[in-house]
Amino acid sequence: MKIGFIGLGNMGAPMAANLVRAGHEVTGFDPAGALPEGVAAAASAAEAARGADVVLTMLPNGAILRQVAAEVIPAMAKGAVLCDCSTVDVESARAVAQTAWEAGLGALDAPVSGGIGGAAAGTLTFMVGGAAQAFGKVGPLFEVMGQKAVHCGDSGAGQAAKICNNMILGATMIATCEAFVLADRLGLDRQKMFDVVSTSSGYSWSMNAYCPVPGIGPVSPADHDYKPGFAAELMLKDLRLSQQAAEAANAPTPMGELATRLYADFVEEQDGKGRDFSAILPHLAGKDRKV
Ligand code: NAD
Repeated sequence: MKIGFIGLGNMGAPMAANLVRAGHEVTGFDPAGALPEGVAAAASAAEAARGADVVLTMLPNGAILRQVAAEVIPAMAKGAVLCDCSTVDVESARAVAQTAWEAGLGALDAPVSGGIGGAAAGTLTFMVGGAAQAFGKVGPLFEVMGQKAVHCGDSGAGQAAKICNNMILGATMIATCEAFVLADRLGLDRQKMFDVVSTSSGYSWSMNAYCPVPGIGPVSPADHDYKPGFAAELMLKDLRLSQQAAEAANAPTPMGELATRLYADFVEEQDGKGRDFSAILPHLAGKDRKV
């Protein structure tokens, strides 16, 4: 396929490289410059999009997505699909899809989980919102870049799935970390705590697959001095998106709200920026109860 790829940062660059390796013709644009090997450089987002069967975007936020979409939609050929893989707010995803349809294009919101490692290995999970026809057309690309693509529903459903998942993840990581802090103060050995919880009803991905304690469980960022991994500021971004959506949809999410406040404090008031989101463990461990 002929692909335009816009936004070739930490995630976009390895995703585009995998598409090139699979034999697709990829033209890329990123104002920051450097493109992965085999990706043809375009002078603008519109130039990358012109004549493409599918335009993929992997951008920092909804405002930038809206700006890029306004540029590329008029340049795209009728019947082509605009597929955004960034994590953005549900309203931006829906607004961009609406503009794309009005221009005779297909549109998908297809945020990912799996991080930079998954992007490089081609093992991302795509959560996709939009029409079945567009999903079918981009399907072969999801297969190259990922191991699984779930069609979640209409426009915005992919972003909804992503923020619900990450709201659970943020709250669960904090709950797991505070349980370790309590275990420490009760004199319970951390390995014993892991052995019990990882096979009991307190188990979770945070505990079993990504244990926040160094030297326990499978290798995780905790074993590398909490180098991300999944950076705390990205978790904060996703939690804020969840709260923005909860506000708009009038959904009560008290745990999500508290998790957002705790990550905001960690990233913006303490030393959380640039650290893995599981570093909330040493952060909590250094606190007293009355904080
Ligand atoms: P990044 O900052 O490394 O990459 C974003 C890229 O977009 C940058 O290279 C930037 O130059 C480019 N960009 C900015 N404005 C642009 C414009 N107007 N036109 C074209 N390109 C522009 O971020 P990332 O880590 O690659 O994340 C991208 C998206 O994926 C984000 O929405 C993020 O939330 C999501 N995500 C990231 C991870 C992760 O682990 N990094 C995991 C899942 C989802």
